Amino acid sequence: MFDALSRWRQRRVLQRSAIPDALWREAVALLPFLAILTDEELARLRAMVVLFLDAKAIVGARGHDVTPLQRVVIAIQACVLVLNLDLSHYGGFENIIVYPGEFVPGWEWEDEAGVVHRNDGPLAGEAMPGGPIVLSWPDVEAGADWENTGMNLVIHEFAHKIDMRDGKANGCPPLPAAMSVAAWRAALTAAYDDFCARVDRDEDTAIDPYAAESPAEFFAVLSEVFFADPELLRDEYPDVYAQLAALYRQDPAPRAARLRRE
Ligand SMILES: [Zn+2]
Repeated sequence: MFDALSRWRQRRVLQRSAIPDALWREAVALLPFLAILTDEELARLRAMVVLFLDAKAIVGARGHDVTPLQRVVIAIQACVLVLNLDLSHYGGFENIIVYPGEFVPGWEWEDEAGVVHRNDGPLAGEAMPGGPIVLSWPDVEAGADWENTGMNLVIHEFAHKIDMRDGKANGCPPLPAAMSVAAWRAALTAAYDDFCARVDRDEDTAIDPYAAESPAEFFAVLSEVFFADPELLRDEYPDVYAQLAALYRQDPAPRAARLRRE
């Protein structure tokens, strides 16, 4: 009964809130890494984006006006991660807050001595367990130009959300039953240790050195690379690539290679 009802509701949302063709095409054109998707996958992505936008509020802060194109660009990148999974991976929060630039998070934390600290460094993005995702629009825009910026903020923050489904951001998201936690940890830990050593040696890494910050950041940054530059991840850390391919149920590297040769 519930399933039938929710399917009926989904159909209604898809009909009522369809994205106009011109807007969809404009948003897809801004995200070159979508070029590997088939027409069937793009159609599925488009339906998922409609359901995502129905379930989440994307709101501007500090005077930022979120345009329809910005909403779709953010939603597409969020949905790419779960294209072969489902939107339940993004349960437990409703809001995506968009700032006109980097922002200073308002949260405070208490250390073991009971001293309350404020984090005053400006951030481009933030994801907290059970809380909203916060994004700086210029940094979202920069992600469309992967060739030059090597970053994708939306994929990064939504990967944190997937990691946090068990309440903790630790670089080990809840895995489907078919995957081995031991194999995940072995692949990620070996790659993380290697990457940290390279960063410590001041090596010029093709992957953003910010990934060395913590295992949680390593997972989020490598998820960006997995979707935006899959061949790079497969070449640098093939075992991590294989784990992410199993987690996201996508294998983008051979498709990106084929596309590049065409
Ligand atoms: Zn992060």
